[in-house]
Amino acid sequence: MAHSAPAIVILGNGSLATARKIAQLYPGALIHGLAARVEGADRVYHEFGATLRELYQQDTPIIALCAAGIVIRTLAPLLLEKGAEPPVLAVAEDGSAVVPLLGGLGGVNVMAREIAAGLQVAAAITTSGELRFGTCLLNPPSGYALGDLELGKRFVSDLLAGHSVRIEGGAPWLDQAQLPEDPQAQRSIHVGTAEREASANELLIYPRSVAVAVSAEVADLPNRVRAALQQAKVAVQALACLVAADDLIASAALREAALELGVPLRFVAAAADGGELARSAVPDATIIAVAQCLAIAVAAQPLDVTQIGRPRGRLAVIGLGPGAAELMVPVVKAELARATDVLGYETYVRMAGPFRSDQVQHCTDNREEMQRARHAFELAAQGRSVIVVSSGDPGVFAMAAAVLEALHESSDPAWHNVDLEILPGVSASLATAAQAGAPLGHDFCVMSLSDNLKPWSIIEKRLDLAAEADLALAFYNPISRSRPWQLGRALEIVAQHRTPETPVVLGRDIGRPGQTLRVTTLGALTPEQVDMRTMVLIGSSTTCVFPRAEGGDWVYTPRWYGSKPLC
Ligand code: SAH
Repeated sequence: MAHSAPAIVILGNGSLATARKIAQLYPGALIHGLAARVEGADRVYHEFGATLRELYQQDTPIIALCAAGIVIRTLAPLLLEKGAEPPVLAVAEDGSAVVPLLGGLGGVNVMAREIAAGLQVAAAITTSGELRFGTCLLNPPSGYALGDLELGKRFVSDLLAGHSVRIEGGAPWLDQAQLPEDPQAQRSIHVGTAEREASANELLIYPRSVAVAVSAEVADLPNRVRAALQQAKVAVQALACLVAADDLIASAALREAALELGVPLRFVAAAADGGELARSAVPDATIIAVAQCLAIAVAAQPLDVTQIGRPRGRLAVIGLGPGAAELMVPVVKAELARATDVLGYETYVRMAGPFRSDQVQHCTDNREEMQRARHAFELAAQGRSVIVVSSGDPGVFAMAAAVLEALHESSDPAWHNVDLEILPGVSASLATAAQAGAPLGHDFCVMSLSDNLKPWSIIEKRLDLAAEADLALAFYNPISRSRPWQLGRALEIVAQHRTPETPVVLGRDIGRPGQTLRVTTLGALTPEQVDMRTMVLIGSSTTCVFPRAEGGDWVYTPRWYGSKPLC
């Protein structure tokens, strides 16, 4: 099973040297350091338990530089759940001990040996089969799938008890193993694509060397594929991918079928029938035509799926939230991990990182929105997995609308066939409001005060009407060096409808280092207190302020509407 790069989790600066040594062994590995305790980590976390559990659930291999017991206690609640089981290791802070804890089938012992070799110590391997045979028979290399885990465990314990074994079929990774081999043995390790009856005397390992080609839309595809394989006596575990004609690239049924079968989906140029399609996708394979539009390709070796045709391109427009990693939604984190290309304004691309060396960063100036959107489609149409980053939410004065506009303008089917998704984020107005209390707790109006993309007269008109309607107001892009006077004018308009005592919240760099939150009033507010990194929230006639115990104020706008009894 192929895992993503590991997360190296540390609790203090004392572990940093060991963490860096380990990071060198795994390209793309990130060091996660506890906030306020670690300087120089790639990622900062605040809560050890929550962080470890989140990594585990996302199937990220974990190397924790702390006591094994802490790791076990932290992950224990998750162990009974079915789901991800990535490798988990505890490593002594000074690098003197490497203890594989979980993920035996995910290759934890292989990792333990790699890390131990890097640190020049011995790994604490406790798995009997692995110690005796030098390999974990139940964890074949990528490109191969184990038939049945429970039968496999019994098989390994039989070998440990003294039974000998034969190898049938190609198993190059076992050449180095120390197995009790005997050509006359009753028990065998069988490697092949053919479907076989499960038996206690056989450890079945299937090479993923089979592709099913689909040349036209087929109803009930997953079952058709299973039936076709069964009819051809090919094991479903040997299936490496579905290959489809590229005129089906936007087919939702096809995508769902691949998901259900748990295999990747690749596209090649359309062909006359399934057989021809299979031949063009896997030229050296044996082709078994099943139906006009369906054929099976069986290759001699496991397939390198990345070399077959190309995948459907993907474009995700993501919102990072205001800045803090905890305020980024989990789907966005997952998307960042799968991206091949990242586009955006440099500040945001940097905020979204760090990235692995295989991920290409395309940083551009903030103003080139449409150009960036078109570039994103060009990359995605080639089959890449592209991310366009925005801060906050991508749909709030950010890239999502530009990306959709670029698509709307285009008549290129390759662009329209891209798997496009917009993933939301916590917008600056909401992040600021939450810190102040609930100033946007009733109806409110969100505006950008920038007149770069709209005439100032429209802004004045909307401000006037929104202020008259007694909506609370949230101003994005309130001021900049090239727009120095607009905020002052905006405040004049608002002041025509609101009293000078109206509460105002200024949030600057919310969720980022050095954030500030200030509560003031409309009468006391001047443009000098605001810059382009500030969010301005102006209360309605019902917005209230009262002191908080720890200092500062709570600001809220009640859910009801009427006169203000409390304020
Ligand atoms: N898509 C972003 C907004 C982009 S417009 C979002 O949803 O948050 C840029 C403006 O957003 C800035 O001028 C500032 O007014 C506001 N802003 C963005 N991030 C902020 C933050 N962390 N703190 C305060 N204001 C922020």
